[in-house]
Amino acid sequence: RVKQDGRNAYRFYDISMTTDVQRTMDLDSRLRQAIKNNRIEMYYQPILDLETKQIVGAEALMRWEDEKLGFIPPDEFILLAEKNGLIHRLGEIAISQACYHAAHWQSIAPIKISINFSSVQFRYCDTLLAQIKKGLKSSGLAANKLDIEVTESLLFNHNDEVVSLLEDLRRQGVELTIDDFGTGYSALSYLQKFPFDKLKIDRSFLIDIDQNASNRELVSAIIAMAKALNIRIVAEGVETKWHTEYLLQRGCDYGQGYYFSKPLPADEFEVLLTHSRMPQSVA
Ligand code: C2E
Ligand code: MG
Ligand code: MG
Ligand code: MG
Repeated sequence: RVKQDGRNAYRFYDISMTTDVQRTMDLDSRLRQAIKNNRIEMYYQPILDLETKQIVGAEALMRWEDEKLGFIPPDEFILLAEKNGLIHRLGEIAISQACYHAAHWQSIAPIKISINFSSVQFRYCDTLLAQIKKGLKSSGLAANKLDIEVTESLLFNHNDEVVSLLEDLRRQGVELTIDDFGTGYSALSYLQKFPFDKLKIDRSFLIDIDQNASNRELVSAIIAMAKALNIRIVAEGVETKWHTEYLLQRGCDYGQGYYFSKPLPADEFEVLLTHSRMPQSVA
């Protein structure tokens, strides 16, 4: 496609195209290297019970710091990995690292570990199930300490295989969470059809909640709806005391965000968890 608006515009378009393609090619080969050289590391962000302020879980978030390209945000490399197929390998890394750490942390506190799964990973349900079973078995983590986060897009084009995988996991005690709630295009009816335990309110609803009355009403309505359906609620992107108090007052169960902690490397998360369990500590 050639733009018709003059020679300079065309040149500009051409160059930016090339750099985009180049960046994708660089990322692609660097990501393969990073996987080979074990440069993919899971970070952990605490999830707190808003009432007791105890850490009840952690979300595992993937980090890649490339030797040449620097820090690459997960939103960028996960999208690429979904296209080039590396997502299945990344998923395996996430499961094995997160289950390993979570199993180790059980001696400090009975926390759950939440792992993100993109819809593309459900294209091969057998592989995914095998990866999860292996992660649990080799770490010794109990299935009821694992929480799987999926987004609404999985349910939009779902097939029977996905539904039976989710049901199978849940029968084994794995928890299911709907992530980024309210940002997808799904009809709400899926909440009745699928066996979700928890719903995670997307961070975008919380950003200006102290100024924005309509976002406040939305959050409040989401919480009320989840409660009516017996689904527990997590708020992500909790950044202020105000957020915490509002959410608690509206009956939100759990919170996660910079107000409590950023995602941390495993050893730092372990220190935080240990300290939070000491009797004198008030988180
Ligand atoms: P997500 O699952 O919705 O994760 C929450 C994101 O919000 C994380 O971004 C987290 O660092 C960020 N966050 C948490 N609290 C706050 C806060 O108070 N303020 C702000 N500004 N941000 C906060 P992150 O780590 O960059 O991850 C982005 C997305 O990448 C995730 O969104 C998830 O969709 C995807 N992702 C990350 N790790 C994995 C993984 O292992 N597998 C898959 N499939 N996707 C992953
Ligand atoms: Mg998530
Ligand atoms: Mg989320
Ligand atoms: Mg989100």
